[in-house]
Amino acid sequence: MDGISSSPGEPLSMLRRLLIASLFLAGCSQTVHYVSSRKSDVFHRSTCSEVGHIKSENLQSLGDERSAAAKDRRACDVCKP
Ligand SMILES: [Zn+2]
Repeated sequence: MDGISSSPGEPLSMLRRLLIASLFLAGCSQTVHYVSSRKSDVFHRSTCSEVGHIKSENLQSLGDERSAAAKDRRACDVCKP
């Protein structure tokens, strides 16, 4: 009965491996960009889910330098920038 549950040539596992590889590549090529709200001293990665809650008029871009973004601010607990 062996070989039935996990065959290495199974199309699903191939797809899963491709998906993981593309996610990994996308993560690597993406430049980290930092943002914050004018109303708070917390800074986030631009991809953070909390950024969606910041009003667009309060959203400010901090660039891609972490040291500059972190100046006088604290890191978000959600995205841990
Ligand atoms: Zn965040």
